[in-house]
Amino acid sequence: MPESPEVEALARFLADEASGREIRAVDVLEFRTVKTRNSPPAGIAGRTITGAARHGKHVELLLDEKSLVVSLGRHGWMRWLSADSAGGDAVLPAEAPPALATLDLSGDIALEVTDAGSWVSLGLFVVDRADEVPAIAKLGPDPADPAFTRAQFDTALGGRRKQIKAILQEQETLAGIGNAYSDEILHLARQSPVTHAAALGPEATDRLFEATVTTVREAIAARSGVPIDQLKAQKVAAMRVHGRSGEACPVCGDTILDLTFSGTSAQYCPTCQNGGVPL
Ligand SMILES: [Zn+2]
Repeated sequence: MPESPEVEALARFLADEASGREIRAVDVLEFRTVKTRNSPPAGIAGRTITGAARHGKHVELLLDEKSLVVSLGRHGWMRWLSADSAGGDAVLPAEAPPALATLDLSGDIALEVTDAGSWVSLGLFVVDRADEVPAIAKLGPDPADPAFTRAQFDTALGGRRKQIKAILQEQETLAGIGNAYSDEILHLARQSPVTHAAALGPEATDRLFEATVTTVREAIAARSGVPIDQLKAQKVAAMRVHGRSGEACPVCGDTILDLTFSGTSAQYCPTCQNGGVPL
């Protein structure tokens, strides 16, 4: 699932490369992606892209007086095909995800919205303002935001009797974090994924706040400028515990374990995060 560091890099790429280009045509290949029926994506043809922005895990293409918001869902992404590569399904690897919509841009660019999932979780919204998208209106504060404060973090945790791993991923509570970065945050904070927020003492809360901000901001810095077709691979390569069960913890050398609970899974180091005791 794309999370804030990768979506931020995608938004910055689009701001740099797509700004100033006219949208010549929009071809929606999967109609279930269209979330604004009264304002369909085809209606943005003829408009010029003026910039791009990220909201949580959503990316917004700014157009003159309108916006196209792409909710990337679980497996959504974008593909940028220039004149050299366009027309060439041949140049795409066989495992390349299918395009659900294509924006034909001036300068012989095809900007494809893709989804690698087996069901459609990606959404396209044509709106006047990004916060007309309900999920964006409800977003909590973003730890990547320089204005993000410890007070906002304390409010998010709020002494709740809910596992921290789940709270970190609630978009209405904290924007942009998903399954992978929540594992990394908890490892850096030396905190068990099943601990409830209400059980955190002041020192553990300090560590969790620092780990949340550090993890998200360092990942954004590391992913900045990486070509968008390489972001997923770079994210996977940068993970210290997420997706690495059976491998050695880079901090202490203990074996990273997998934990499945409440329909989700976490990878964690028993020594770093639970006093050496497997969960
Ligand atoms: Zn460890």
